[in-house]
Amino acid sequence: MYTHVSVSIAKRQKNKGNMRPIHNCPCDACRQDPTGTTAELHHAINHVVAALDEKNRRRFVGLWASQLGHGGIQNMVLVTGLHRATIRRGCREVEKMDDVSDNRIRAPGGGRKLTEKKRRNSCPSWTN
Ligand SMILES: [Zn+2]
Repeated sequence: MYTHVSVSIAKRQKNKGNMRPIHNCPCDACRQDPTGTTAELHHAINHVVAALDEKNRRRFVGLWASQLGHGGIQNMVLVTGLHRATIRRGCREVEKMDDVSDNRIRAPGGGRKLTEKKRRNSCPSWTN
């Protein structure tokens, strides 16, 4: 019992340590009007970014960057403090996810087995 409690406390502390500190956006809009709409958006983005794991953080910021269009990556570098290569990778990953030809929910071969394959031949009387 004691061991279990100790492990869960250790896990919690480890997860807490993994959470990224919330980045303060140094952009002009945030400095000039810290309570403005843009500053609120940048603050919200950085809150989400801090809570996500590495892969999802990269994809979330990559999505924002691609939605912003030209200069989007540079803008998100400023807003989030992430490296441009990380954001570029996130953009590519999000674009790849949008690919219509790869529109599968499960990996090939994933999901339940077909009922015919699952059924055992335990009742030979059924086959007669
Ligand atoms: Zn900002």
